[in-house]
Amino acid sequence: MATQVTILGAGPGGYVAAVRAAQLGADVTVVEKEQVGGTCLNWGCIPSKIMKVTAELLEKFHQADAFGIRTKGPATLDMEKLMSRKQKVVSAQIKGIEGLLAHHRIRLVRGNARVEGHGKASAISENGQVKSWEWDRLIIATGSRPFSVPAFPFDGRQILSSNHILGIESVPESIVIVGGGVIGCEFACILSAMGAKVTVVEALDRMLPLPSVDAGCSKVLEREMKKRKIKFYVNRVVASIEPAAGGLAVIIGPSPFASHLKEKDRVPVATTVEKALVCIGRSPNTKNIGLSTIGLETDAKGWIPVNDRMQTGVPGVYAIGDVLGPERVMLAHVASTEAMLAAENAMGGDRAMDYTAVPGAIFTMPEVACVGLTEAQAREKGCNARTDTVLFRSIGKAQVIGELAGQASIVSDAGSGRLLGVHIIGPHATDLLGEGTLAVASGLGVTDITDTIHAHPTLAEIMLEAALKATGKALHG
Ligand code: FAD
Repeated sequence: MATQVTILGAGPGGYVAAVRAAQLGADVTVVEKEQVGGTCLNWGCIPSKIMKVTAELLEKFHQADAFGIRTKGPATLDMEKLMSRKQKVVSAQIKGIEGLLAHHRIRLVRGNARVEGHGKASAISENGQVKSWEWDRLIIATGSRPFSVPAFPFDGRQILSSNHILGIESVPESIVIVGGGVIGCEFACILSAMGAKVTVVEALDRMLPLPSVDAGCSKVLEREMKKRKIKFYVNRVVASIEPAAGGLAVIIGPSPFASHLKEKDRVPVATTVEKALVCIGRSPNTKNIGLSTIGLETDAKGWIPVNDRMQTGVPGVYAIGDVLGPERVMLAHVASTEAMLAAENAMGGDRAMDYTAVPGAIFTMPEVACVGLTEAQAREKGCNARTDTVLFRSIGKAQVIGELAGQASIVSDAGSGRLLGVHIIGPHATDLLGEGTLAVASGLGVTDITDTIHAHPTLAEIMLEAALKATGKALHG
């Protein structure tokens, strides 16, 4: 009899695990309480990028004159049309995933899933119908949801989560964004381009204060945010948000996480805004899913610990994706990679997950993309690292498209020339990262890049220029 694999959650972790397990001959059941595609398709990657594309186009339309295009009056945003386009794209992708599951003869159970002891699971549908079945292997892929701050919880009208902002009916006149991480900075750029007055408040000392993001990228992003009139505070936290005439009264105070604060940064700042968007993390979807019935313990915050085979402490039970928490990397493509591996291991394989070359794509304006180590991280590991940086303004294609802001840096081992990391901020940075990811993952050197002919005129030439610089042969950069 085929191995019975049950997967809880049909996000980019769950549905990919389902397909891979089915390809390997398993009898697969996947349970989803909302729409297939998970956060990524319904509340994350895809809808936010649809909004970003419109924001970017709007910005371009405002520059039409510079490109030799005459328009009758300024371009304006039609939020209703944007939302209906968003829904169309998301719905098409949902249908695509449902078709994929059907094609692989995967049972899709709609409902709230629970583990009911070892080898048993159940799901309760919206209309209260309960289904139960058995499993030999279980893969938990229930993901995460926006973290709500107890001092100013989401109300969906004025205090919004990333889910809420993806369904807005109009652009707020002004908004404070709590958190200058990936989601906060992406929405800051989108909303500002759409005409909102945006203020971002970040507790750490820079925008995008992620260890994987090079400080140079944060610096360029901060400069570009200033150009766009996005106000931001670092080393600050939002101390309170209260209802007030005309919106919300927000107090911005000093950050308890700041190592050294200037005197002026200790003084609280008061501002009034129409809305607040809170993006300071995610909470795991691990409560009330019956994990204790199989003796599976989460950590104190509810995230599930696994080994590099994606195995939990319970034999035959695996976990993947966001549900593993920020100790791993909470990204869709990481969830899908872990999914392939977990499914293969559940079906008798023995593969280990390697996080050394995880690409990070950040859809700010301009975009940020990074893979591998920063120079500081490489030095901490004892490498004699060097960084070679080339500005986009030295690349012909950047001049052609009129997007000059940004740079690409290659971090390499000064002795061997091996690529250790790539950090790009600029036009189409996220699409340009593929070459760097392949190079870091495959242990290639800067000469492998310089020996590769790069088409002209393309933005990809910036990688060639940075690699040429690392070998002492810079042409334009
Ligand atoms: P999820 O996608 O959260 O899927 C989990 C699924 O499980 C959900 O569908 C949920 O309904 C279901 N579920 C939960 N509990 C149960 C239950 N008891 N029974 C049945 N079903 C259940 N990542 C990127 O790589 N690139 C991006 O550009 C990007 N942009 C983002 C933008 C935003 C605004 C947000 C919020 C996230 C973004 N992410 C991005 C992160 C990405 O969405 C997640 O890392 C990814 O969705 C995680 O996949 P997952 O399968 O682990 O979990």
